[in-house]
Amino acid sequence: MIALYEDVRIAKGYNRSILHDLSKGGFEFLSNEAFEVLSNLHEYDNFNSCLEQNAEIADELKSLDALNIINHFISDIHVFPKIDKSNSMPSHFQAITFVVNTSNIKYIQRNIGVLSRLTQNLFLIFDKKHILFLDFLIDFLKDNQHLRIIFCGKRSLLDKIDSIVSKHKVFCEYAEIDLSDKAKYIETFPSLHNNYLLFNETLNFNSGFYEKILINADGRIGINLFDDFNLGHISKIKTIEDFESLKINERYQEVINIKVDQIAVCQQCEFRYMCTDIKIPRQSNFSREIFVKDECRYNPFISKWKHEEGFSRLAECGVIVNENEFVINDTQIAEMNLELWED
Ligand code: SF4
Repeated sequence: MIALYEDVRIAKGYNRSILHDLSKGGFEFLSNEAFEVLSNLHEYDNFNSCLEQNAEIADELKSLDALNIINHFISDIHVFPKIDKSNSMPSHFQAITFVVNTSNIKYIQRNIGVLSRLTQNLFLIFDKKHILFLDFLIDFLKDNQHLRIIFCGKRSLLDKIDSIVSKHKVFCEYAEIDLSDKAKYIETFPSLHNNYLLFNETLNFNSGFYEKILINADGRIGINLFDDFNLGHISKIKTIEDFESLKINERYQEVINIKVDQIAVCQQCEFRYMCTDIKIPRQSNFSREIFVKDECRYNPFISKWKHEEGFSRLAECGVIVNENEFVINDTQIAEMNLELWED
């Protein structure tokens, strides 16, 4: 990853690269040849001399919107600042989520004041059966800037819950998540978001797990819906210090500190600095390589998403990744890419 300007970054993938315009939230694809030239911009007097000396990709470079804005004198390549871990507040969580249920509503009532001080993003997830529990939380809903209500269920139920939600004058977001369907939920990942915060985070931590906790319907504290983390039980948690202590869990620390650049396959993916995934990375047996057991629905070796024509699974491209090996058959991939992208 190379930084051009504070808000303009480029990241190289196996097949193509991405230019991130982090202030606008946009991104553009560019060839890996263009990436190499932009990576060495500091060697040119200015952008025009770079274009003259790289005539074969000059049109491509000129077509990049983010560069058009800054196509005057470019001489500095800034080093992207890393997150200073010591600045991380011990009591801070990026997001805390409660799955609201009969058995844990009392713990939500007890902890909601503490939680609002620990995070800017406090999510309460309700299904159809438990949306009535909003009544029990009425005192906490008013003026709670950090609280977000999420209704999970079928879209057709939205009308039915409308009167309950509007009675409390809260804004309720809708997520088409079936709280009993793990496979379908996991299929909704990875999610891509192009912003400064996530970009920085993916350089230093695992964005799917970093500074997040989720209290399941049974009171078990995990990180995301359906994961198998057990950081404790909400019945034992009462104070800010109790919540802080969840973060010292050894497995939690291990997972949040795995960077996307360490994960086999993801490290070859041009989307890696804008990607949030919740599949748990694992250590392989054969080296220090980290891998994810379930395959992503994006294949970075052929630049195709699962829903796109021409998509193939990794093994069909000659990429083997498991606990014992990580092998990339560049010849086979080159042949496939020629067929897929020759035009
Ligand atoms: S391969 Fe998938 S999970 Fe990995 S960085 Fe790319 S999009 Fe994200």
